[in-house]
Amino acid sequence: MRTLHLVLGDQLDAGSAFFEEVGDEPVLLMELDAEATFVRQHKLRLVLFFSAMRHFRDALVERGFQVRYSTVDDPENAGDFEHELARWIGVLEVDTVRVREPGDWRVRDALVAGCASAGASLRIVPDDHFLCSTKEFAHWRRGRKQLVMEHFYRSLRKREGVLMNGGEPEGGQWNFDEDNRASFGKKGPPDYPEPPTHRADAITEEVIALVDERYPDHPGDTATFALPVTRRQARYALRRFIEDRLPTFGRHQDAMATGRPFLSHSVLSTAINLQLLHPREVVRAAEAAYAEGHAPIAAVEGFIRQVLGWREFVRGIYMTEMPAYAERNALEAEGSLPESYWTGETEMVCVRECMSAVLTHGYAHHIQRLMVLGLYAMLLGVDPYEVHEWHLAMYSDAIDWVSLPNVLGMSQFGDGGLVGTKPYAASGAYVSRMSDYCGSCRFDPKQATGDDACPMTTLYWDFLRRHRDRLSSNHRMGFQLENLARKDDDELVAIRKRADRLRADPV
Ligand SMILES: Cc1cc2nc3c(=O)[nH]c(=O)nc-3n(C[C@H](O)[C@H](O)[C@H](O)COP(=O)(O)OP(=O)(O)OC[C@H]3O[C@@H](n4cnc5c(N)ncnc54)[C@H](O)[C@@H]3O)c2cc1C
Ligand code: SF4
Repeated sequence: MRTLHLVLGDQLDAGSAFFEEVGDEPVLLMELDAEATFVRQHKLRLVLFFSAMRHFRDALVERGFQVRYSTVDDPENAGDFEHELARWIGVLEVDTVRVREPGDWRVRDALVAGCASAGASLRIVPDDHFLCSTKEFAHWRRGRKQLVMEHFYRSLRKREGVLMNGGEPEGGQWNFDEDNRASFGKKGPPDYPEPPTHRADAITEEVIALVDERYPDHPGDTATFALPVTRRQARYALRRFIEDRLPTFGRHQDAMATGRPFLSHSVLSTAINLQLLHPREVVRAAEAAYAEGHAPIAAVEGFIRQVLGWREFVRGIYMTEMPAYAERNALEAEGSLPESYWTGETEMVCVRECMSAVLTHGYAHHIQRLMVLGLYAMLLGVDPYEVHEWHLAMYSDAIDWVSLPNVLGMSQFGDGGLVGTKPYAASGAYVSRMSDYCGSCRFDPKQATGDDACPMTTLYWDFLRRHRDRLSSNHRMGFQLENLARKDDDELVAIRKRADRLRADPV
């Protein structure tokens, strides 16, 4: 009996208990052309994954593991998970493949197929990178009619003993969201320190040259690559966030500002998702900053809620709902994404600004994703799975398990209310309140009809009209639907006509 221990590109945690069983059996990592091209991946994303995987390979070799590694340009490389895995099973003469739970159902299926075709068995073991295992989440959700993130978060916080004072939450309340929704107002954002940029070493330089040569037509530009690719760099990025930006995290969490993509956000999602950082160490570092008086409770709780609450919650949803979840399309949306989601070229300043961050950094912060790019796609009526695929291509931190519930579920309401209780539908008035974008835009966020009408506003009213019957039983939509009912028929006809034009030819 000989086992091949497979490490996926988003499982780069050398501290995982997975490695305790390896001994002198082979460990395999594979770069695959099919993964780079099944959606046309952003160049920064490709550099990130290939460079981090190569660094991880070297770290494992240094620790004495017998590592096998497929580079994407190796002529022997079969190019996709199924066939490359089958090839290695033959070369290494193993009868079992052992892997942690893949965070992508498509990959899981391909591994099953690869093992079956090569006559090996596949052993999938839990992924200890998460604070809540798949089994625990399934147990937590059993018998619950509705899955409320807040309930999950509180139970996990108690179990982990995070920000707890005996049985009570630190600061006397569980949730400081009310303090965390401020906009920047006329003064604009303060000068937050920028996240660190990590200089490219020889490995990263080599990968950059490879990506430039092999994927010249993919979106983005390798010249702006600055993400951590080693555990050391990731720990440094965490330290810098805790020292520089955690104290101001939260209050302006939902605010957006022209030319300022990062603000007080941590920009740690890629490092956590590739497992260069463990979520527990991230949470503990934030908690320690509070204990030392370095950051206030609203900032620290707001941050911990994202990592310990939302992140673990969406992962649990994915693991317990797949594969059927990917098919859900509660609003029966069938449209396509506008070209501006690839080029950033549009007259809508909000979309242009957010796309500039995505194209330059493979990044946009939560509200830019949810309340600009996600919102516009939902209002246009784009197929939610297409939005998810676009997301997988363009964001450095996107992996199926985290993108699908956030995109198809939270932002597109494709799951009909499993992740969020109502659609995140809003007009240009929301963007205007939470950003400075509208001031320099040729459209007017207050107008729903006419040449200057804001496309968000027109499409918002038309969205409510189109889905009025479907949403009428959702009591959280009551206020918005009452406002719709105040619109007279002539205005609704004019809105509808303009909305049809926008859908046929998005600006
Ligand atoms: C439409 C949409 C798509 C998204 N797709 C992804 C994705 O593909 N990958 C991804 O990691 N996050 C995704 N998110 C969640 C969130 O927007 C990003 O984690 C965050 O913007 C990353 O930037 P940051 O590290 O600066 O986060 P911060 O604002 O500093 O938040 C801290 C950390 O909390 C975690 N987090 C916060 N919100 C969520 C959430 N809803 N789900 C999971 N983790 C969360 C992340 O690890 C993040 O690094 C998505 C959100 C939306 C609305
Ligand atoms: S006016 Fe409308 S399109 Fe222009 S920036 Fe504001 S929300 Fe976006």
